[in-house]
Amino acid sequence: MTERIFNFSAGPAVLPLPVLEAAQRDLLALPGVGMSVMEISHRSKTFDEIIQSAEAGIRDLLSVPKDYQILFLQGGASLQFAMVPMNFLALDASADYIVTGSWGKKALKEAQKFGTVDLAANLADGGFTRIPGQDELHLNPSAAYVHITSNETIEGVQWKQEPETGEAPLVSDSSSDILSRPIAVDKYGLIYAGAQKNMGPSGVTLVIIREDLLPRIREGLATMLDYRTHVKDKSLHNTPNTWGIYIINLVTRWLKDKGGLETMAGENEAKAKLLYDAIDGSEFYRGHADPDSRSAMNVTFRLPSEDLEKKFSSEATAQGLDGLKGHRSVGGVRASIYNAFPRDGCQALVEFMKEFEKKNG
Ligand code: PMP
Repeated sequence: MTERIFNFSAGPAVLPLPVLEAAQRDLLALPGVGMSVMEISHRSKTFDEIIQSAEAGIRDLLSVPKDYQILFLQGGASLQFAMVPMNFLALDASADYIVTGSWGKKALKEAQKFGTVDLAANLADGGFTRIPGQDELHLNPSAAYVHITSNETIEGVQWKQEPETGEAPLVSDSSSDILSRPIAVDKYGLIYAGAQKNMGPSGVTLVIIREDLLPRIREGLATMLDYRTHVKDKSLHNTPNTWGIYIINLVTRWLKDKGGLETMAGENEAKAKLLYDAIDGSEFYRGHADPDSRSAMNVTFRLPSEDLEKKFSSEATAQGLDGLKGHRSVGGVRASIYNAFPRDGCQALVEFMKEFEKKNG
C-alpha cells in the first residue's frame, strides 16, 4: 500500500509529505555528495552544514535569543526527566513541579530520585482536565527550577501562557507542542522536547538551555549526562542521530516555507476548533479537558461507553483514520493533530463522528 491515510498517531507522528519526498529523493545520494546522509561522518563538512542549518532553523523559527544554546541529544524526553534534576537539583535545594498530566507525573517521579521535589500544584484529582491558575501555585521563590509540561499528550491539556516563576528558572517538557506556536523563549531557563511529534523521527531530543544556568550544574556527573559536554562539543561529543537531525533540518525549512510559527499556530487552532466544535455540538461526545485548557495538539474525548469507544476507533481505522485510540492509561479517543496533520483529516474525522453518532447514538 502506498496511499497515505490520515494518521492521528500521538508520536511518532505524521511528517510533512514534502519532507518525506525530499528525504526519499536524496536517500541514496545527497546532491553533490554521492552518499546517503546515513553513510557520512558526523564530523564531515556536509553533516556540519546540516546540523548548523537545523540549529539555525530552530533558532529562527522560535526566535531563540543569543544567550541560549540549542542541543540535539539522545535518550528522549524521558532522559531529560533525569538529566534536569541531575544537573540542577543541588543537595541543599529543592525543585517545584507543576503536574498537569501523566508525563508531568513521570518527570516528578524521576526527579524524586535525585533530590527534594515539591509539588507546586497537582491536578490529578480532577483527572488532569485543566491547567492551574497562577493563584493555585505553591511556588518556592528559591526553588532550583520550576518544571511544567507545556502540553500533556495523553490528557490533552495545554498551557496557554507560562506561569510566573520569579527568579526560579522555568523548565518545560515541550515534547508535544514544540514548534506548534510561537513562544517567548526568554521566559524559560530550559526547554526540552523529543522530536517525534512536531520535528522529526524519534531518537533526537531538542534542548534549549540558557547559558547562565551552565555554571549551576553539579560537578561529578557522567560526561554524557552533563549539559556542558554537549554545549562545549556542539552536540557532537559522540555520534548523534544524524538521520534525525537531517529530517529536523528539512522540517524547519518546511515550516519556514509555510510562513513560520505564527501561521502554524493559526492553522493548528483552526484544525482543533473543527474537532472541539463537533464535540461541543453533540451530547454523544464528551471532551476530556476544560475548554480553557484544551490542547490544540491532542484532542481527547469520550463516548457513552468503552465498547462504543473501541468500535469508534476500529471503524475509523477501517476508513483510513488511524491512531485514534486513546492512551492505554486513560482510554477514550485521542486525535493528535500536530503541525503536519492536514486540515482535511480533521474535516474527515468530523464527518466520521457525525455518521458514527447517527448510527450509534
Ligand atoms: N513528555 C511528553 C509530553 C510526551 O508526550 C512524551 C512521549 N509521548 C514523553 C515525554 C516521553 O518521550 P520519549 O519517548 O521521547 O522519552
